[in-house]
Amino acid sequence: TDAKQKDEDYHTIIKNTEKATGESSQHEFQAETRMLLDIVARSLYSEKEVFIRELISNASDALEKFRYLSISDTEGTSIKDRDRSLEIHISTDKTARTFTIQDTGIGMSKEGLTQNLGIIAKSGSKAFLEEIKQKQASGDNNIIGQFGVGFYSSFMVADKVEVFTRNATDEHGWKWTSEGSGTYEIQPAEGVQFGTKIILYLKGDCREFADEDTIKNIITKYSNFVGSPIYLNGKKV
Ligand code: ADP
Ligand code: MG
Repeated sequence: TDAKQKDEDYHTIIKNTEKATGESSQHEFQAETRMLLDIVARSLYSEKEVFIRELISNASDALEKFRYLSISDTEGTSIKDRDRSLEIHISTDKTARTFTIQDTGIGMSKEGLTQNLGIIAKSGSKAFLEEIKQKQASGDNNIIGQFGVGFYSSFMVADKVEVFTRNATDEHGWKWTSEGSGTYEIQPAEGVQFGTKIILYLKGDCREFADEDTIKNIITKYSNFVGSPIYLNGKKV
């Protein structure tokens, strides 16, 4: 049946069908974000694995938002692919040295991308910056993990991050790219599935996060609170 076929498709959801098209625009991170990214990227903080907790928690939030939207929007006019399975897929690639996480959740519009991944709205990140200012701390005394700097914690382990995302009402998707310094780029993209896929290009000394067994242990640690299934390289965790 169609529904079954669809389910199977989602189990191998990490397909590389995305293709950036059209003009890319460059944007500057807000000054506070730049400061945060600077600290995060240079951090020697040993428990870098918390980035996985943050990314899983964002994926889970995105799925819950979609779940809510799909049941509350009873008109059903604008939401595409309403019956999708709600899942999180993580994949590792040792050769390419990448860590990828994809969800079938709410996704982001272009405005959403600039608002959510360009400025610091998150209270945890704000509190973190306050703490840094007050204590003149370096960011290595465990406070990154303590406050949870959200999406930006990706830059503890990655020197480049790509985000493909498509909102439930959008005709096509978007590609967001940054190397975590002053700027990020946004480009229209085709072949983007509904939801969000984040690809981390790992730093040389963070290659352990491209190792399936390592990731499996970390996921188990942080996935208790997640209401949707998590797949690692196609297998349910
Ligand atoms: P927080 O989760 O506390 O809001 P984050 O830095 O972790 O802070 O994420 C910032 C914002 O980016 C989120 O609030 C959300 O709007 C957006 N975002 C991050 N990841 C995703 C995702 N996987 N799907 C949709 N939106 C996301
Ligand atoms: Mg978050």
